[in-house]
Amino acid sequence: MGPILKLLFELPGGHFAGMISLWLRCWIAAMGCAAWLMTAGSTMAQEATNGFALADFLLIPLRIHVLTATNEPAIHSTLTSNDVVRILSKVNRIWAQAGITFPLESLRYEAAVGPTNYLERAEANERATLLALRPPDSLATNCFHVFYLKRIRPNGIYFNLQGMFVKDTASLRPVEGGLDEPLPRVTAHELGHALSLAHRQNVTNLLASGTSGPWLDADEIKASRASARRHPWVESAGELLRRVEELQRAGRAAEARPLAQRLVAVPLEDEASRRLRLWLANQPAP
Ligand SMILES: [Zn+2]
Repeated sequence: MGPILKLLFELPGGHFAGMISLWLRCWIAAMGCAAWLMTAGSTMAQEATNGFALADFLLIPLRIHVLTATNEPAIHSTLTSNDVVRILSKVNRIWAQAGITFPLESLRYEAAVGPTNYLERAEANERATLLALRPPDSLATNCFHVFYLKRIRPNGIYFNLQGMFVKDTASLRPVEGGLDEPLPRVTAHELGHALSLAHRQNVTNLLASGTSGPWLDADEIKASRASARRHPWVESAGELLRRVEELQRAGRAAEARPLAQRLVAVPLEDEASRRLRLWLANQPAP
């Protein structure tokens, strides 16, 4: 991001920043660069796209598991599907600065396996206890897995591709320009670990521990994109877009639709994204 944009994005949130944001969008539109989000009421930190166009984005499918346990309130997450959609949309706005989007592969409400004495067992062996809660039938090797539950010792823990665990009661130390709620930030932070990033204790950085900071630096952007590309199941939005356009030309709308749905998870308002959203809106229900 250039110095002017960076300066403007780092202004504090609130009404003044909203006015700046509006002005900035007008200015950018006038400059012919339309890759911005309409995010009224959000913090500035959720709007940076670093000039990545739709075709530059990498799409990493994300399976979200909301763990339930009728008799174990320390596990039973109370997140609703609306919460999950909101959280993921903010995660994707954070990761837009790296040209990365996590389309929702599926959202699953699942009974945790063997929930009895969860807290005692987690205290003795956190990793084994958390991993054992995962329902084996819903694990896949071609997506990232995030599990939400009620209580764990830290806000979130990452265990390789076996899963990331985030507690739905997470709390963070607010920092200037930070996220306006903890769960998208904690989720985005754990996804950073899944993309090879280590902690970097600058308070406004996404990989700082325990703060609401959202930012990645140029090295982290490069490393996370390289890490994503190492998974053969990570899709290039550019290639996906070409396939959608081919299918549309061939009149194969039913096949194009699920692909287009993955592409519109990218939080851009550029010409290609607008065209896809309009096309999807005009498709008959499957
Ligand atoms: Zn961490």
